Amino acid sequence: MNTTIREINIMNTHAVLAGSFALSLTLLFGSIAGAEETHTKDINSASYQEFGMIEIPACIEKNGHKVPQRGYSKSIIMSSGGFLAGAGTDPKTDENIIIYDNETFPWLAPEFQKFTLAHECQHIKLGDIGVAPKNRADYLATEDRADCTAFQQLKDEEGYGQKEVEIIAGFINLTMSELGAPASANERRIKALKTCALLP
Ligand SMILES: [Zn+2]
Repeated sequence: MNTTIREINIMNTHAVLAGSFALSLTLLFGSIAGAEETHTKDINSASYQEFGMIEIPACIEKNGHKVPQRGYSKSIIMSSGGFLAGAGTDPKTDENIIIYDNETFPWLAPEFQKFTLAHECQHIKLGDIGVAPKNRADYLATEDRADCTAFQQLKDEEGYGQKEVEIIAGFINLTMSELGAPASANERRIKALKTCALLP
């Protein structure tokens, strides 16, 4: 089990990942009717406040393909092996897609919502989808690289700087505490992000 934030489990092979999406898509159609009612029920922490859902920024692959980005319930994202969001391949169309937790997203700062989606988009752009990391260090390097390129993208597009780094760091800590991740894992990741943010 990975201990980093918001992953479709890229430790798995392409085939397993595709299987996860098949599961999530199947579940969606069975449960969509009740989705609105459960909107706030599993947000237990008083630390969360409602910010509202951002308008989803486009994710365009190098070949010009516009990546579909689909919101699902928290339970579907979690049962797909993801947390908050994930990137993978839709087995029905063989196209890359991004999925995100549309129950939790409105309770995350807009800066962090954008960062999370940019991170997943960067996994696609960097060719991480369906590639099994060689080991844990390789996996963490892949995560840091997606974090860093996402931040640099948002720096260029939205002027992200120190303020946004602190907001993102706060939400990494807040959301990862739900998963019971050790503080050291968050600290490592945030340190890497802060180093990246200082790059020109
Ligand atoms: Zn990632």
